[in-house]
Amino acid sequence: MAEKKIGTCAYCKKEFSKLVLKKHFERCEMKTTSGTEKEEFFLISVEGYDDKEYWLYISANVNSTLKQVDSFLRDIWLECCGHLSAFYINGIDYESSRYDSSYSKTMNIKLEKILDVGDKFTHDYDFGSTTTLKLKIISKYINFKRKKKVELIANNIKPLKKCDSCGEIADYICADCGEWVCGKCSTNHKCGEDMLLPAVNSPRVGVCSYCG
Ligand SMILES: [Zn+2]
Ligand SMILES: [Zn+2]
Ligand SMILES: [Zn+2]
Ligand SMILES: [Zn+2]
Repeated sequence: MAEKKIGTCAYCKKEFSKLVLKKHFERCEMKTTSGTEKEEFFLISVEGYDDKEYWLYISANVNSTLKQVDSFLRDIWLECCGHLSAFYINGIDYESSRYDSSYSKTMNIKLEKILDVGDKFTHDYDFGSTTTLKLKIISKYINFKRKKKVELIANNIKPLKKCDSCGEIADYICADCGEWVCGKCSTNHKCGEDMLLPAVNSPRVGVCSYCG
């Protein structure tokens, strides 16, 4: 049986299964917004390419740009030292670099121009120690206008990792050997204490100098 994925609703902070959250937010988001003007949004699922235990549901105005989605993903999950990033959508690379080239485009393009319901695509952050994310446009819906173009709807609860040495809850991951390490074992970890990075809730945990 598939493990039940539990996450937190960003609006009411309650915990539900991933499946329930996909529907639940509509009511919850509706309660937090009001007004006269309505706009269209994409509900987008995001997950770690290798680590599917890290996932998000985000809502993006169909008028928002890839650049705005990229910034959102950097803020919540990825940014360590300003690496380059790229979306790969229907055979085209959209890169965070500033100019269009013969092989790639910039991210200054609106979602509605290139994406529709059902589309699957990827996002790479850092072309050296790359963190790849899988994204999918789940649905398009109408709601009141919001201040933010891209917003968090729900995310996974932080998975508890066990220390590879003693089995206690891990506080760190070693950037060198990849082992999970608890506070007690951190002082005599074989690679040295300065290789340890905090065990944060992100698919970039333990990579480069990512600290959450
Ligand atoms: Zn809620
Ligand atoms: Zn880095
Ligand atoms: Zn330990
Ligand atoms: Zn190590």
